[in-house]
Amino acid sequence: MTDVSAHEVGQHRQMQAWAFDGSPVTCSWTTLSRPALGPREVRVRVVTSALNHVDVWLSAGVLTPRLPHVPGCDAAGVVDEIGSEVTTVSVGDEVVVNPAISCGRCPPCLAGRPPLCRAFHTLGDTRWGTHAEELVVPDVNVTARPQTRSWDESAAFGLTTLTAWRMLRLAGLCAGDTVLVVGIGGGVSCSALLLAKWSGARVVVTSRSAAKRERALQLGADEAIDSAAPRWGVRADIVIESVGAATWEKSIRSLAPAGRIAVCGATSGPTVEVNLVRLFMHHQTIIGSTMGTHEEWAEVCRLFASGLPVAIDEVLPLSDYPSGLARLAAGEQFGKLVLRHDA
Ligand code: ZN
Repeated sequence: MTDVSAHEVGQHRQMQAWAFDGSPVTCSWTTLSRPALGPREVRVRVVTSALNHVDVWLSAGVLTPRLPHVPGCDAAGVVDEIGSEVTTVSVGDEVVVNPAISCGRCPPCLAGRPPLCRAFHTLGDTRWGTHAEELVVPDVNVTARPQTRSWDESAAFGLTTLTAWRMLRLAGLCAGDTVLVVGIGGGVSCSALLLAKWSGARVVVTSRSAAKRERALQLGADEAIDSAAPRWGVRADIVIESVGAATWEKSIRSLAPAGRIAVCGATSGPTVEVNLVRLFMHHQTIIGSTMGTHEEWAEVCRLFASGLPVAIDEVLPLSDYPSGLARLAAGEQFGKLVLRHDA
């Protein structure tokens, strides 16, 4: 083997990525071995990726994957290599990546309920993620990228739109419903606002930030309430909750009779009180939800292709991942933070 080919082989086996490592955990741009490719997996060269709270949990040590670990849940890119049994995509295809990964073989998976799979995980939490030159995912986790949407939007919509769509779907969203989105500004809450408006609902949002309330109104919210107000004065058919303890009492008091409150997070704390008498006398429902099914992903991709708006806070070069992470941890953003890998 000549020096040149040895050099090429060496390059072929390595990639550049942001990775968490060390003790205490730090994040750095580093060289890693490329992940191996299984027969039903595809390798994607990442064009754009986006940040999520999973990134913050990794940097804060709340999630503790084996190190080194590559973060990142959302991505859009170009298929670079396919496994020996892959027939659904080809090298060169432009794709968006579904970050909800399941085994595909267990009873919940076969029943179309992969979020209940015991092997269920989110891309970037234990499996290496998207803030890298390339990533490897199961073939069922890539979908053709709509050519009508930008690369930035293609990375930004995935995780949060899937999460919000399942919540609204489980809560039985109908046109004309009043939907209360608590704590507007985060990715899921912005996606819930946009999806509910797209579906013909009336949407009320809350935030402590006057600037975020104003942004939400510009994005189509019908009413924006200061979270700190003693009474919100809303009768919502559906409440979208991800804040938890700090807002729970006002959220559940805002439910109309037969209302549904869907919960996907508890950023201010997980322990709340429920008045059971009020719950059963008013025929109300509390729904827990996380991520979504392949069917829901397909629906979300159709909505995205047909023009569903995406709230993007800022687009940064990949090299600015640490500053994006700090912005997300401080809760300063309104919508998604996107990383451009060619910038
Ligand atoms: Zn499974």
